[in-house]
Amino acid sequence: MPLIDPFGRTIEYVRLSVTDRCDLRCFYCLPKGFKDFEEPAEWLTFHEIERVIKVFAELGVNRIRITGGEPLVRKNLPELAQRLSQLPGITDLSLSTNAVQLKRYARALKQANVTRLNVSLDSLDPERFKTITNGGKLDKVMDGLMAARAAGFSPIKINTVLMQGINEDEAEDLVAFCIEHGFTLRFIETMPMGETGREAAKHYVDLQKIRQRLAEKYELIPGVMPGGGPARYVQVAGTELRIGFITPLSQHFCETCNRVRLAADGTLYLCLGQSDKVELRPLLREGISDEQLKQVISGGIALKPARHEFNEKPRQIVRFMSMTGG
Ligand code: SAM
Repeated sequence: MPLIDPFGRTIEYVRLSVTDRCDLRCFYCLPKGFKDFEEPAEWLTFHEIERVIKVFAELGVNRIRITGGEPLVRKNLPELAQRLSQLPGITDLSLSTNAVQLKRYARALKQANVTRLNVSLDSLDPERFKTITNGGKLDKVMDGLMAARAAGFSPIKINTVLMQGINEDEAEDLVAFCIEHGFTLRFIETMPMGETGREAAKHYVDLQKIRQRLAEKYELIPGVMPGGGPARYVQVAGTELRIGFITPLSQHFCETCNRVRLAADGTLYLCLGQSDKVELRPLLREGISDEQLKQVISGGIALKPARHEFNEKPRQIVRFMSMTGG
């Protein structure tokens, strides 16, 4: 039986967080000096993750995105990717990363059958990048991106959270950068996730306006991109560049939501912007059978809310993005 929620949406995509830790401290995501991370004993083991994903695949899930925190800080991540890619029914395995350690892991990830990469990058200016990420080094990200391209990843999507007074003025530079290197570009609106996200929401930019601004400089034609995600794409005429706009606030896309999120500690979140959840780890450690796990997961899907309420209830979500799995 496929997983169909009460609103008729088929769930075929799991975003899998393998750690809530990160080697950057983007001001809109993790608080400076934050230390209250999950302990390794609380993380699902590779064996537990593999088991849960196998059961999801038996329930019709075919796409997995590995995320975090920063997934590359989890030891032996390529080994996990390899194991997940072998599961019957999983046809698409992708990874979101800040690319700080990608130079070291790009080839191993490719060999582990990771098919697509998303790289977060909020500025092309080293000083600004350092400020936004609280100490990050842009050259490492650049090295990681080039290593990923050399390893044969295609497409590589650059994800930029665009914020007024922070990096909004870089939209055109990012377009030029992505045209030059053959990357896909996606702009994302800030979401009020936790105190940090709410702070960042003060810099909120309506991406519809950015799209209009870019249309003055470039000829934008309607574009599509494989992947079935929430971005709405345009293509820059005369180039290969596709630009996606992810607009959870100005134009939400919940009616087509096809995903759930499994946090590093085994909590299944049914919606990024709501608190509905099912704790899988205690059940796994108590010896639940695969059949029972299927029932628990199906029961969880029945709790999936219709939509987030970032606009109506911006104070509602206390967890940061890295806790849920971004
Ligand atoms: N570390 C990986 C990365 O950098 O892609 C994966 C996890 S990170 C939490 C995933 C994405 O969430 C990043 O692109 C980050 O910019 C974004 N993000 C974090 N907090 C956000 C917020 N409050 N609003 C919008 N995007 C946010």
